[in-house]
Amino acid sequence: MKQHLSSDVFQYDFTNTFPGDQSGNLTPRQTPGVLYSKALPTPVNEPKLLAWSDDLAAELGLEKPNEADVNILGGNLVTPSMQPYALCYAGHQFGNWAGQLGDGRAICLGEWEAPDKNKWELQLKGAGRTAYSRRADGRAVLRSSVREYLMSEAMHYLGVPTTRALSLVATGDQVVRDMFYDGRPAYEPGAIVCRTAPSFLRFGSFEMLRARNEIDNLTNLVNWTIDRYYPHISGDDKVLKWFGEVVERTATMIVEWLRVGFVHGVMNTDNMSVLGLTIDYGPFSFLDNYAPDFTPNTTDLPGRRYAFGQQANIAYWNLSCLSNALVPLFSDADQLAEVLKTYEDHYWAKYYAMMAGKLGLDQVRDEDVYLFQEFEKVLSAIQPDMTIFYQLLIELPLDAKSESDITAHFQDSLYDELTSDQGMQLQGVINRYQIRRKANTCTEDDVQTLMRRSNPRFILRNYLLHQAIEELEKGKNELFLKLQEAIKDPYAKRFDEFFEIRPGWAAEQAGCSMLSCSS
Ligand code: AMP
Ligand code: MG
Repeated sequence: MKQHLSSDVFQYDFTNTFPGDQSGNLTPRQTPGVLYSKALPTPVNEPKLLAWSDDLAAELGLEKPNEADVNILGGNLVTPSMQPYALCYAGHQFGNWAGQLGDGRAICLGEWEAPDKNKWELQLKGAGRTAYSRRADGRAVLRSSVREYLMSEAMHYLGVPTTRALSLVATGDQVVRDMFYDGRPAYEPGAIVCRTAPSFLRFGSFEMLRARNEIDNLTNLVNWTIDRYYPHISGDDKVLKWFGEVVERTATMIVEWLRVGFVHGVMNTDNMSVLGLTIDYGPFSFLDNYAPDFTPNTTDLPGRRYAFGQQANIAYWNLSCLSNALVPLFSDADQLAEVLKTYEDHYWAKYYAMMAGKLGLDQVRDEDVYLFQEFEKVLSAIQPDMTIFYQLLIELPLDAKSESDITAHFQDSLYDELTSDQGMQLQGVINRYQIRRKANTCTEDDVQTLMRRSNPRFILRNYLLHQAIEELEKGKNELFLKLQEAIKDPYAKRFDEFFEIRPGWAAEQAGCSMLSCSS
């Protein structure tokens, strides 16, 4: 049975279970002793629904939004069963302890039970100030909201674990942002995304309680998280088993990012979901040309801590922060360290299996590891478009042997002419690959099916988002709607107009290649 958001049946197990600051005071402050602070959304001028995710709504059992629902999604209506709050968490940002952070502009309305009995938190991002807004305004601009709305849904359809987005609402208010951090602030249209996940708890939620030495709260939060989100885990060593599963889920998420070429851009520990979901979409990007040291985040220069090829290491570093937070729950912290180490095995096993899928190998044989390394080396050297290269690889004639044949086959994926040395490198790895692919014990049809499943044909490139946003700001939604359709079928041979490398003009244009955190 479908219901309206305004039918007022929200649940609130989290706020019922944990201590919170119920004052509703939105003055920025430290909130020791509590896991959240009550925060009512600040009403907006004129909420207007720009987008609605039909599929997600069906999963949640939601009716198409009526006027009251749009008012909820814009923060102008709070029904009696909602208990809106901002989560308090801390975190390490760019490798440094940042202390208390919290939801500065995300307000959780409550928990929604779907027809299949799964529970989802509904959160309004950009709904105004909370106790954790520090010096900022609690708002979000249209550009960053469109990006989060489309990209989190795109990741879902790619099969990558992620939070999701239900709606995009224009607020009718203007928001001031200094997009380039160069002292030229400008007004931009404001917007609110309603995003959903079973939970928005982060590594930083646990780090905060450890830092404050609130061990009872820490113990309760860990137990609650296990009971609610990892109910299959029990026994005396359940916390250890749980941490092991967070480690494994995180490894899965990272390998999925590498499969589709996703760079998160801000892998601070407050942006790491304890459910292993991709969370907090900011200055993210897909790779266009295959450059492992690419970071889409201007704030991440010159260190490139969050570059594409660093993500596996950073995830491990972040997991070590989470393990540190859990130390007070153990008499022997070495146990945690042992479990943390399992990350490497999980990661490599998943990585090899993922690469076998991308390359269409029936199984991972010992010698294949060398082939994976060679692909990595050659792709990094010639930097073809990652997505188009792998699409062309699916249809590679297995008898094309000469350098010119092979270069011609991959021509559409290249950003630059290959030097003769690069041509030879490509030929070398492809010739070895052809031999390996012929040695598969399954049929070539099966291989192609596996490769089509493993390699997306459509990715939501930053320049496409940039164009769609520019149009929306002028009141046109043609490209936006087309992208909203294209993200739903990323592995299919559809939407040929998007099957091309990033155009030259977009390489250096702000918002198309690199972005700031200003959103
Ligand atoms: P992020 O890097 O987007 O994950 O944000 C880091 C922290 O800054 C989080 O605590 C956010 O809630 C907060 N934050 C970012 N933008 C705003 C804003 N416009 N208003 C209030 N808080 C913000
Ligand atoms: Mg964040």
